[in-house]
Order: sequence, then structure tokens, then C-alpha cells
Amino acid sequence: MKFCCQCGASVELRIPAGDTLPRHVCVSCETIHYQNPRMIVGCIPEWDDRILLCKRAIEPRYGLWTVPAGFMENGETTCQGAARETLEEANARVEVGQLYALYNIPHISQVYILFRARLLDLDFSAGAETLEVGLFAQDEVPWDQLAFATVRRTLTQYFRDRGNGEYRFHTGTIEPVRKP
Ligand SMILES: [Zn+2]
Repeated sequence: MKFCCQCGASVELRIPAGDTLPRHVCVSCETIHYQNPRMIVGCIPEWDDRILLCKRAIEPRYGLWTVPAGFMENGETTCQGAARETLEEANARVEVGQLYALYNIPHISQVYILFRARLLDLDFSAGAETLEVGLFAQDEVPWDQLAFATVRRTLTQYFRDRGNGEYRFHTGTIEPVRKP
């Protein structure tokens, strides 16, 4: 951040009185511009023994597969956000169900919140940010072409849970991939 979005003056990085971390503070109107983690909301849409996945038409990870998910918008609930993303990316209608996974990704300041969801019909198709949408059984999931570590981890647990006959809530922290 270089300029204040309130008044257009420049900002400086300093620790405001009573705070503990450096913030962008406007040199003119003194507005403190806090930057906080972003929430990514999404779901695992289910249809019998298959789940819906989307092939990404946007960077990052163009051409790789993911569950429908995206940045939460102001003024919506996490469930509404998950349903909206599913509609936008896969033109699919879902009934959002159980909270399934919450992952912290501190190195990129994101929090992933994923639900299980029931696909309401098979009238789905690729949205603007999607190349292709499909339903996959466990042995059909393109495991070597998944877009994100969160998706791989979530789906691995999901099918393990299904095998055990009990879907548990999962949480954890995703660490950065270390280059050898
Ligand atoms: Zn200002």
C-alpha cells in the first residue's frame, strides 16, 4: 500500500499507539489501514458416491482441479459464500451442510473454510472461471492434478472418512512447500 484510500495522501509503516504490529498509517488523515487474513469459503458438492470438481480457467493453477471455493464477500455468511462460489464456478445449486474442514495458511494469510454440500440437481456446467466441471468417484479423482495442498488434504480425509462411515471435522495448518 502506497496511498491512503480515504484521502489520497501517502502512508507510512509504523506501530500505532497501543498496537503491537506495524500498520500502514496515513500521514495526513491518520487513518490506520489494517490488513487481516482473507477467508476462502467453499464446499464439497456430493452426488451419491461422487463429488463435483472444477478445472480452473484462471491463475494460479490454471488447468488443475479444485473444489468450488473462493474469497468470501462482505455481507454474506460462510454458507452463503460457499453456495455462491459453487454457483459461479460450476453453475451448480447446492444445499450447504456440515462444516467439514478449517485450515490456517499463515504464510499467505488465508483461512480456508470448507463444508460438505448436497448437489441439488445435475444441471451444472463450467462457469466463467472454470474450464470443465465433473463428478468423480474416489478412484476417478485426478489426484496428480489437484490445484492446492488444501484440496488434496481435504479430499484425502474426505474419502478416508467415507470409508470409515463417519465424517469428522478436520482442522490444521498448511505449511509452505519447502524447495529442496
Ligand atoms: Zn488519509
